Amino acid sequence: MIKPFPESAMAATRGLHNSHGLVVGVGIKGPCPSPKCWTYFPESSSPFYRVTFLSNYSPNIAPPGHFLLLTETSYSEHKPVSRSGIVDAVVDGLVATRLITDRQRADIVSTHVFDVEYFYPVPTLDRDGALDTIQTYLLDRGILSRGRFGAWKYEISNMDHSVMQGVEAVDWLLLDKAEETWRPPARHAVTVGGPAAVRQALAAAGG
Ligand SMILES: Cc1cc2nc3c(=O)[nH]c(=O)nc-3n(C[C@H](O)[C@H](O)[C@H](O)COP(=O)(O)OP(=O)(O)OC[C@H]3O[C@@H](n4cnc5c(N)ncnc54)[C@H](O)[C@@H]3O)c2cc1C
Repeated sequence: MIKPFPESAMAATRGLHNSHGLVVGVGIKGPCPSPKCWTYFPESSSPFYRVTFLSNYSPNIAPPGHFLLLTETSYSEHKPVSRSGIVDAVVDGLVATRLITDRQRADIVSTHVFDVEYFYPVPTLDRDGALDTIQTYLLDRGILSRGRFGAWKYEISNMDHSVMQGVEAVDWLLLDKAEETWRPPARHAVTVGGPAAVRQALAAAGG
């Protein structure tokens, strides 16, 4: 935690927006209905937008003779979803999308709900200005903020992007090599004077 955190940087954080998500796992007795990894469901017949056939990833994920589905439902102030009714809504959605039959409701052996506060960083018109202020403030203090919610950029926040952001941040710091996945705000070079200045700031902070 950075204390005191200046009002200008605090005000900028109000330009960052994110969605939340309800992840529901459903364990069912019987053979998995699909050999796929996952499927997207844009239709309104289900609350979830994606189902992952999790037990297809490893025989150790579900007991023999069972399969495990993992569903993802996003929510926000613009799209409220009831947490209390989510399991029933998901099971109805599994039937509506014909992943399971109505009769298989009786074969459900377990359900699990995981409420994820930071689900997707949502791109908005005020985002880039906010990030300019925040990233410049952090870098001035020797902090490289990268990754899904570290960079807060949806378009470079998948697993592969996030890993490369970390790799490239270290290359920038140690080898002075420009980052490519994540791009610095124009003000950075002027404000911090490049990786040598950040290394100095880190050393001064005992890092
Ligand atoms: C629902 C969902 C579906 C996704 N699907 C895909 C997909 O299909 N394909 C894909 O490529 N990517 C997918 N992603 C994105 C993927 O999960 C991220 O890109 C990746 O995990 C980001 O890595 P990260 O290191 O930036 O953050 P994380 O993996 O979130 O790691 C951050 C870590 O920091 C820890 N942490 C937080 N605060 C503190 C603190 N104060 N002190 C110490 N530790 C702390 C957290 O506990 C966490 O372990 C999905 C993400 C979500 C939420």
